[in-house]
Amino acid sequence: MIEKTGGKNSPQEYGIDWDKQDDLDLENRLTDTEYISEDREVENPLRPRTFSEYIGQEKAKENLKVFIEAAKSRRETLDHVLLYGPPGLGKTTLAGIVANELGVNLRITSGPAIEKPGDLAALLTNLSPGDVLFIDEVHRLPRTVEEILYPAMEDFALDIITGKGQMAASYHLPLPHFTLVGATTRAGQLSAPLRDRFGVVLRLELYSPQELGKIVSRSAGILQAEIEADAALEIASRSRGTPRIANRLLKRVRDFAEIMSGGVITLNTAKIALDRMEVDELGLDQSDRNMLSAIIKNYGGGPVGLETLAAAIGEEAVTIEDVNEPYLMQIGFLARTPRGRVATPAAYLHLGLPLPKSQGEQTGQMKFGE
Ligand code: ADP
Repeated sequence: MIEKTGGKNSPQEYGIDWDKQDDLDLENRLTDTEYISEDREVENPLRPRTFSEYIGQEKAKENLKVFIEAAKSRRETLDHVLLYGPPGLGKTTLAGIVANELGVNLRITSGPAIEKPGDLAALLTNLSPGDVLFIDEVHRLPRTVEEILYPAMEDFALDIITGKGQMAASYHLPLPHFTLVGATTRAGQLSAPLRDRFGVVLRLELYSPQELGKIVSRSAGILQAEIEADAALEIASRSRGTPRIANRLLKRVRDFAEIMSGGVITLNTAKIALDRMEVDELGLDQSDRNMLSAIIKNYGGGPVGLETLAAAIGEEAVTIEDVNEPYLMQIGFLARTPRGRVATPAAYLHLGLPLPKSQGEQTGQMKFGE
């Protein structure tokens, strides 16, 4: 059985402070991949519960299915799983499916929410045998917490030292066997000892427009919104390869459809709605366009360092790295070089900006306009 918010009660009980996340000024950014308040109501019914409902990510799914079957047949707990990839791609959802398929509880928390070793100890000692513990942003666990997590993952035991000097006492506390599913947007920031303790490491990829089209149609069905196939594909192709964005755009487009086309989401309504929301035909929003145009106009196309760029456009460096860059690189608008970020000719064309004219003009490591 899945107990999404920790079974007992609120998310806060397990250290997730949704309200705090809502404070991030993200409400106006429809294509942001971070969790915002309205996703709470939208995502619950839309979140797939089984592998068959989970569209795409075939490689990760097939691997997980095998490992789950093997663990079940040996009557063992599943090995610890690390999922990595940009936000909104379905890591939490996959953890829920794993718990569902194993027939155990899912407990959800996040790295920054576990501030002290005692917080982790409380979580672990409350698990039932076989449970799945999902730690989002696992790269942000404090070092002191990480250290007690190692023996917990390896030997299913906690070694706790209390007091200091002569008063110090150490306790060895056996724990129920559990599966840790860790999620991170940046596998590179995980400490080596922590990374090594995950037996299964899976990378989630951005979705194709066709896969996202299926997700949009499925979500529209659940929301009881009528949608035409080409409208679903239109929303999908503007969703930056990310299901969370696809669902969010669908909801907004549905609002337009209620006013414009009697509730039916047609291609025309979808296009008008998405244009009004300033999400262009490739899914770029104002923030992406600002970033590319800053690289081109302020820095001659690059290379420009991440921090300099972040300061120039008033965005957090981590947002640029986690949200803007994966998609801009995937569609070939941005390149990362050792000397910084570089806008590609495709980005110039998309923004309608002239390519540098002079022969061999250097834009990062690329030469173009020849
Ligand atoms: P992450 O944990 O990677 O940030 P989530 O698991 O919260 O992402 O996924 C965001 C939302 O996108 C989910 O609530 C779900 O509705 C939708 N979603 C994600 N992956 C899929 C998928 N493969 N098929 C259908 N819907 C998906």
